[in-house]
Amino acid sequence: MYCETSPAALQHSALTWRAQGRVVGLVPTMGYWHEGHLSLVRWAREHCDTLVASVFVNPTQFGPNEDLSKYPADLERDAALAQEAGVDVLFCPSKDQMYGPDHDTWINVPAVAAHLCGRSRPTHFQGVATIVCKLFNLALPAFAVFGEKDWQQLALLRAMVRDLNLPVRIEGRPIVRESDGLAMSSRNVYLTAQERRVAPHIHAGLKFLADAAHKGAQPAELIERTTAYYAQHIPTGQLDYLDVVDPVRIQPVQTIGGDILAAVALRLGKARLIDNMYISYGK
Ligand code: AMP
Repeated sequence: MYCETSPAALQHSALTWRAQGRVVGLVPTMGYWHEGHLSLVRWAREHCDTLVASVFVNPTQFGPNEDLSKYPADLERDAALAQEAGVDVLFCPSKDQMYGPDHDTWINVPAVAAHLCGRSRPTHFQGVATIVCKLFNLALPAFAVFGEKDWQQLALLRAMVRDLNLPVRIEGRPIVRESDGLAMSSRNVYLTAQERRVAPHIHAGLKFLADAAHKGAQPAELIERTTAYYAQHIPTGQLDYLDVVDPVRIQPVQTIGGDILAAVALRLGKARLIDNMYISYGK
């Protein structure tokens, strides 16, 4: 494995791999790796000849009052984990290498980006789509792997690839959780011991919602009861959103007529944590 910081050098290598007929897999990340990241890397390793993973805290997907400057980082540790997991190239450019002073072209995001995180973080998905598109153009992957933890991000990237005819397959992988149910996240390090103790209720609340959904409750009631669940079990948390949406179009559902996605974002101390659950009606 080697670390590459130059976008031009990565693209040059990728053109060579492509000419050699090698299948390239890409795993984009913001670093501070945990088992969630590693699950994507291990899956990709099984499906490609050359595996590129990126570590880049993309400034354009953070809003002005978000945690960009405090986002956790440990590149040395990430590199050791990447090496161990069989990554061939770890791409870790600087912000200036990825965004020149005149950068002024952006992906205009589709309707799947309008709700959930798109509502609370208005410029987030434009930044995500633009950086992922740039990474695709640099690594020229046959496929790229993303986690279902960021379900809306996956839906957005699928729409982008479809609408812009990008020659990349998007692969989604399941959420990796701690043994108590908390979805793994780099941001979990922001939690105090007390916050960490109640954080598993984020997932438990979604299970509570799924249970009520299977018993026939409709979205308005599901949201009301689960909001009360969070208020009771995570009294120090602040619900950013809790919604029931169509899993593909990411539009709110009023009456359940098929599978749904329950999605939540909750502020707990310094962290804003997200989680979601796909609820299948087995039709
Ligand atoms: P991030 O570094 O947080 O931007 O995440 C990089 C990739 O890892 C994204 O595709 C995330 O969806 C994915 N990811 C993050 N946490 C998890 C998790 N707990 N389980 C599965 N995938 C995850």
